[in-house]
Amino acid sequence: MGNETMKFPDSMPEEPILNTAGNRGFKWYSNWQQELLCCSRCGWVGTVGLDDLEDPSACGASIECPQCHKRIGEVLFPNLRDAEEAAAQGNEEAIRELPKFREQLAHAQARIDRFKQEKIESVNQLPELDGEMLGFTWDIVDAAGDKYQVIRLGDAELWRELAFFDNIPRFNQVKELLRKKYGSRFKMLKPTEASQEWLCGDNAGKLFRLECT
Ligand SMILES: [Zn+2]
Repeated sequence: MGNETMKFPDSMPEEPILNTAGNRGFKWYSNWQQELLCCSRCGWVGTVGLDDLEDPSACGASIECPQCHKRIGEVLFPNLRDAEEAAAQGNEEAIRELPKFREQLAHAQARIDRFKQEKIESVNQLPELDGEMLGFTWDIVDAAGDKYQVIRLGDAELWRELAFFDNIPRFNQVKELLRKKYGSRFKMLKPTEASQEWLCGDNAGKLFRLECT
């Protein structure tokens, strides 16, 4: 591993881009796995790798001290521009991953476009229903290799549209449409147990605060 840095003579030395309480922030396509890091709590000094990354978020992941688990830095996940820049500078990992990255983004964009076309937008798309107390369920189902959120009344399916992970705002939009359409007869929109992880991004706190009525 010691000669790894020699492969990228043109790459910039990694610059701290975040510096909170002594933590160091690294770009994904940098030599963060060759950098000697020091833990200010237990004095550990060494290099870290993928196994030392914890608490991944949409932006990045924390580097934990392998000895005492203090957070000693952060690695930021790349966006397309980061990957393109790193590839242009000769970073082999970026060059290898760029086609797949572009493909994933194209796939994600295609899903968003399809969602926009198929999503429920207007109360006019909802059927007339009998009943004084309408309790709806929100479910997540797999179909044709994709995930859909399905709104049901009892066993009857009212609507299905593509689902996105961790998307409570959409739940609330659909709930408001149901309330608008059915007025005081709308009783609740309740997520099924199977849909909860997708809906709340595996965050129990969000689930607890979710209002079904
Ligand atoms: Zn430590």
